[in-house]
Order: sequence, then structure tokens, then C-alpha cells
Amino acid sequence: MKTEAVVLRSMRYGEADRILHLYTPHRGRVGAIAKGVRRARSRFGGRLEPFFRLHIELHEGRGELLTVTGAQTIDGHARLRGDARALDAAARACDAVGRLFETSEPHPGVFNLLCRQLALLDAPERGLTGGRAGALAFRLKLLLAAGLAPQLGACASCGEREHLVGFAGAAGGVVGGACEAGSFPLQEEAHGFMAEALGRALTEVPHASVAALGQVERAIAATLEHHAHVRLLPAVGHAG
Ligand SMILES: [Zn+2]
Repeated sequence: MKTEAVVLRSMRYGEADRILHLYTPHRGRVGAIAKGVRRARSRFGGRLEPFFRLHIELHEGRGELLTVTGAQTIDGHARLRGDARALDAAARACDAVGRLFETSEPHPGVFNLLCRQLALLDAPERGLTGGRAGALAFRLKLLLAAGLAPQLGACASCGEREHLVGFAGAAGGVVGGACEAGSFPLQEEAHGFMAEALGRALTEVPHASVAALGQVERAIAATLEHHAHVRLLPAVGHAG
């Protein structure tokens, strides 16, 4: 088959091969083997590295892994490789997609989001996109695509619209004072960040304080643990 794909991970295998985790628009996450790719004369060159967006040809054999038979670069995102922070952000974005969407179920919207985020991280004027706010905005959009967007308009337990003071992963969103058992405090700024990030384009990352971003990250983690049994890496590394 021929498909577009983003290389999420690329692992050395045997003498000269690589095992790839690819994310595709219509086949979800795909595992593939590229034979002889680490030899100097390989026709794949350096294209099968993480963050490459490719036109790729895959042969389906009997095994679980597909075999790469051809690859052309759409975008290698060369600039982000020169910036440690952008590189780290790209790795975490790919890791989050790989963990949250690990099956062959198609999510073309997720593929587009990932391509958009990598293109933004590759842009010299990446601004907020490359920081913690950008990483969290991206994760919120992944939650939305997975059908796990937190409920933010009213208490996720009882529907009350006033005095929303906490966030409960089990309930799947913000909660009011009467339902705060099992929740943690969520300030208005964090609540606002989530609503804005979900409603805006990835280019328009909302501003928020360090404290609010910490609450947002905790809310995302609590949602994923309760509803998807998935744990993501921290949104940013030490450099963030
Ligand atoms: Zn309630």
C-alpha cells in the first residue's frame, strides 16, 4: 500500500535494519521494518528518522510488521533538529500520539494535528508552540480527537453551572463544590486555558501562568488515566 506517514519512532534492529512506528491517516499506527536501511548505500538515505513526513510504500506480508519498499520525503523538518527544545517537543508530541492512538483505527484528524504541530515546531518563529503551553494545547486537541475532551461547561457530575472549583478525572471534567470529592482544585485560569485551547487553532496557544499550566497538565493526566489507562511523558523536559 501507499500512504502518507509520520515516523514516530525508529529503532535499530539486527545488523542493518530499522523497525519503525509510523502514524498514518487511514491505518492509524503501523509497525514496519526497513531492511538494510543502515547501510551506507541504502536507497532510503536518512529519511526513515523520527519526525519525517513521508510518502511511503509498504508491503504487507504475513507477519505483524509491514516492509518498507519505498519512501519519499514530504518534509524532513530539518530546522527543528537544530533546536534542542523543539526536538524534545517533537519527540513528546510523537510519543503522545503513539501512546494514545496505538491501534490501526483511522484518525485522519490526529494525523493532520501531528503534521501541523511538527510544522509549527519546525518554524523559526515557533514562540509559545514550543513550550509547555503549546504542548498542553496539542494534548487537549488529541483528547478531543480521542473523544475524551474534558467537560468544561458545567459540573461533570451534576450539571451545576456555578462555582466550578475542581477537576475530577473519574467524572471527566470540572466539578462544583457539592461534587468535589476525588477532585483537585482547578483555578479559573486553568479552566479558561483548556476551553480556549480546545476552541482555537494550534497556532493560537493561550497564555497561562506556570501554576495554571500545572493544573492543566494534571487534569489531562487524570482524564487519560481514568478513561484510557494511558500515561504520557511530562509535557516538557527540563529544558522547557
Ligand atoms: Zn456537581
